[in-house]
Amino acid sequence: MSKRSIEKFNEPLYQREALRFECTGCGACCVASGDYYVYVTKNEIEKIGDFLGLSRAWFKRRYLQRLPDEGPEEGWVLAVSDDDLCVFLGKDRRCSVYSVRPAQCSSYPYWPEVVLRKSDWLRESRRCEGIGRGKIVSKKMIAALLEKQADND
Ligand code: SF4
Repeated sequence: MSKRSIEKFNEPLYQREALRFECTGCGACCVASGDYYVYVTKNEIEKIGDFLGLSRAWFKRRYLQRLPDEGPEEGWVLAVSDDDLCVFLGKDRRCSVYSVRPAQCSSYPYWPEVVLRKSDWLRESRRCEGIGRGKIVSKKMIAALLEKQADND
């Protein structure tokens, strides 16, 4: 294999292939599975709490859960129902806090664990029917979203 081919092979998937995505609104990404959590930052807790008109303490009690191995301020995740649905997923399969949803939701499916390797992208397409549909998403936009997520870490 030539040096150029090796370099190309090592490039992130979204850099070397055109990725298509169009959300159908099916709601499948709002179902928890295994170790899948939606983390919320302090700012997001404030923002969603304000949107719902709830105090921070009440909002946490009602809509969040803490991962046991995390520190006092970090590790808050959205609660899920007994049937593993996001606490904000409505009966109509729509997000009830859509305009103020956490960055983890708004950046989906452009997560490092999804867009860097082809096997991950294909695996995720079994869960999300929007993957592989619609228009090609620009590499620039995906790179900007990945950078933003890295800044939030
Ligand atoms: S699983 Fe994919 S297509 Fe379905 S709502 Fe989520 S992002 Fe949209």
